[in-house]
Amino acid sequence: MIFKNARLVLADRIVANGCVEIENGKIVRVAERDLAAESGELAMDVAGNYLAPGFIDLHIHGALRRDAMEANAEAFETICKFHASGGTTSLALTTVTGTLDEILRVINAAATFRNTLHDGANVLGVHIEGPYFSREKPGAHRLDLIRNPQHEEYEKLLERADVITQMTLAPELPGALALIEALRESGIRASGGHSDAWDEEACAAFAHGMQQVTHTFNCMSSARRRGAYRVAGLLEFAMSEPEILCELIADGRHVSPTLMRMLYQAKGPDGICLVTDATAGAGLAEDKHFALGDIDCIVRDEVGLTADGAALAGSTATMIRLVRNVVELAGVSLVEGVRMATLNPARALGLDSSKGQIAENADADFVVLSPDLHVLKTFVGGRCVFDSRT
Ligand SMILES: [Zn+2]
Repeated sequence: MIFKNARLVLADRIVANGCVEIENGKIVRVAERDLAAESGELAMDVAGNYLAPGFIDLHIHGALRRDAMEANAEAFETICKFHASGGTTSLALTTVTGTLDEILRVINAAATFRNTLHDGANVLGVHIEGPYFSREKPGAHRLDLIRNPQHEEYEKLLERADVITQMTLAPELPGALALIEALRESGIRASGGHSDAWDEEACAAFAHGMQQVTHTFNCMSSARRRGAYRVAGLLEFAMSEPEILCELIADGRHVSPTLMRMLYQAKGPDGICLVTDATAGAGLAEDKHFALGDIDCIVRDEVGLTADGAALAGSTATMIRLVRNVVELAGVSLVEGVRMATLNPARALGLDSSKGQIAENADADFVVLSPDLHVLKTFVGGRCVFDSRT
């Protein structure tokens, strides 16, 4: 099959009248001419709309009142289907702070689910967010379940390393550096977050293998005084270190436009990875309640809040809203904005030869976008999983 008459969003430029040929779920040819006319093969006319690589979201908790913590195929399918409507073709199901058993149940269910054919985005694996957080920065996670890393506990998680994409932890906790090293040895990304770290603690974590920070600016220490002197926090360390990839919830609520622009100026287009951090509130109308773990939350002003209004509780966005926001609010080009949602996360997981770009031999994961950047169709492995007209 051939996708023709497309404005192809490639990793470095946009091709005005492009064509992509796919076979068995893979891209076999990318051309700047009409391949359909040449071959007479079946063609799908993209009608001059954008054809971009499918989005990859490293941080999704849920959608439509379903949460990854439910650890069952029905919840996962709802989440994967909903996020495909926002252009996402691959995602990491993300846990909240819970008991070891609760987290292992999610890992086991995800391991089975990702090998089954389902409607919606692929599941790449599980992002373990917590329980090794700073008690100063719990966000909307349960304070009573936050704890320090213990080898006897996390070795049970590491046994399932093939299913775990990344772990978010506070690098200043006792035992965190040993955990970061263990993660590195197991091929799991260590991401600093929900952290009150001082500069030197962040620096030590980086030296031991921390590669990323989770939802930059949110639940993260920033520069403050120690005695008479001003010292950087995890935020400034991440912004100043080129090798650290910064997650950004660009839903227009978690982080203001000036902060997004500041991050872009500091990190450039390859140092940022857009994540929705979408919770079970995604897809719900204003004022509807949903649960994040055991915490009662509400959708207000297009974002999730704890019901008492005290803390943000993840976004209600899908990835296309984030791409639109970095383009419209942060002065990022469409090519770079798409890269932050595709190639950058694919690279982070070492999947960039098969995902995150429109290139020969890559998976046929696409999103068709209108000129005003709304999702018209989403394809996973060449199969249409979302069509805005149906
Ligand atoms: Zn979080």
